[in-house]
Amino acid sequence: MPAGVKAEVRAYQVYVNGEWIDSTSAKTFPVYDPSTEEVIARVPDCNAEDVNRAVAAARAAFDHGGWPQTTAQERGRILFRLADKIRQNAAMLAELECRNCGKPIVEAEFDINDVATCFEYYGGLATKILGYVNPVPDNAMSLTLKEPIGVAGQIIPWNYPLLMAAWKLAPALAAGCTCVLKPAEQTPLTALELAKWFSDVGLPPGVVNIVTGFGETSGAPIVQHPDVNKIAFTGSAAVGKIIVKQAADTVKRVTLELGGKSPNIFFADADFEAAIDGALFGVFINQGEVCSAGSRILVQRPIYKKFVDAMTAKANKIKLGAPLERETKMGPLVSKEQYDRVCSYLEIGKQEAKVATGGGRAKFDKGFYVQPTIFYDVDNSARIAQEEIFGPVASVIPFEDEKDAVKIANDSPYGLAAAVWTRDIFKAFRAVKALRAGIVWVNHMQPTYVEAPWGGYKQSGFGRELGPWGIEEYLETKQVHINLNEQPIGWY
Ligand code: ADP
Ligand code: MG
Repeated sequence: MPAGVKAEVRAYQVYVNGEWIDSTSAKTFPVYDPSTEEVIARVPDCNAEDVNRAVAAARAAFDHGGWPQTTAQERGRILFRLADKIRQNAAMLAELECRNCGKPIVEAEFDINDVATCFEYYGGLATKILGYVNPVPDNAMSLTLKEPIGVAGQIIPWNYPLLMAAWKLAPALAAGCTCVLKPAEQTPLTALELAKWFSDVGLPPGVVNIVTGFGETSGAPIVQHPDVNKIAFTGSAAVGKIIVKQAADTVKRVTLELGGKSPNIFFADADFEAAIDGALFGVFINQGEVCSAGSRILVQRPIYKKFVDAMTAKANKIKLGAPLERETKMGPLVSKEQYDRVCSYLEIGKQEAKVATGGGRAKFDKGFYVQPTIFYDVDNSARIAQEEIFGPVASVIPFEDEKDAVKIANDSPYGLAAAVWTRDIFKAFRAVKALRAGIVWVNHMQPTYVEAPWGGYKQSGFGRELGPWGIEEYLETKQVHINLNEQPIGWY
């Protein structure tokens, strides 16, 4: 867009039962570009009545629409066709993602590629959902059948908008479930763009429904709805706790991917250059708005001082700027609310620890920009070491030895991810076993693959996404017993 030209304000509708409609109240709310603070779109402000409509469509598509009875091959082909649409329109999706959530365009391009890959992976997995023959001791055939759980309610965050939608929709559809997806209120646009292809690729009406709105007014009604069988949620720990309580009334299956305060552990024998890079990448990628961010950086004493200095020097060179510029390595935070939350932690951090660099707003006239910030000499009991900040804020903590590192690393209510950097394979494997986290990286941090499970220990949630684990969460297990003995039971 040439300078000085105002972004067009696009009006979106929501996609329910295969149709584009307004909310029943006709209310809408604005969606922003966090780098300019301008409104770029308006979307329907859905309420419980709109959710009822979406759930009814998903229920009908599951119960009478024939979706669970489609062949696995057919569901697979639909997912491959959707992946093709995504690849053909990758540039448009990446640009929209970039504008709406503020992440650098190069990162948005990676995300969109991952979105397509996710649909392709589950397109392939649709035909590999297998049952069992159970070796029971009687003259019988005992079978295990896998069946779709039903209507899935899917509530997602704003940090990887379309990728989080893909992680939820792809396994659900491969399994034969129908879906009601609610994107985050900050970033609903790419999911709505995706829905424009649903009917072209052969998804019947009602199989995927998208409602836009706020958590309490459009998320909670999904969680409470008696016709929804499962809730998949990614978001804050605070909301995750509310969801578990609300889902209890209708005994829904729930999977949660919540926050983290992941330790990134550097032993003195680690490759120093790689370590500095890994520390920065772990905590500053996507502006630090990453649930698995390596926001606690544990460094062994002998290299501690040198490490903080080198990290600081390199952090000071990170290029902040307009998300659409290709050299940009860090964009604005997603919203004013998130900007205020992160800034309040910067103030807390200044009380609790020393500032190596950053600590405030980045110098731009507009946009929710925060400087990449490194606090050091942080005590693990400090709030900036215990609470998830979800911004470009690193807390560097020194440690003495292996035992000390593991103790500090595990001293957290969270357990999503951890990383350990060392050239010593014995030390690395001991740490892998000792760390209480769902994902452990060795000599890297953040690589994520659709083939491998994703999810946390402790208050980082439960259930696993991606890989075959991800589809399990959308399947019921039915035990079937076929008597092969033609005699009466003979008990009475
Ligand atoms: P953040 O505070 O960083 O925005 P949230 O956990 O609040 O993270 O948001 C993640 C998702 O959860 C969003 O789609 C949001 O609308 C939704 N959400 C928020 N509150 C609730 C709630 N009470 N019930 C259901 N969904 C909610
Ligand atoms: Mg919130």
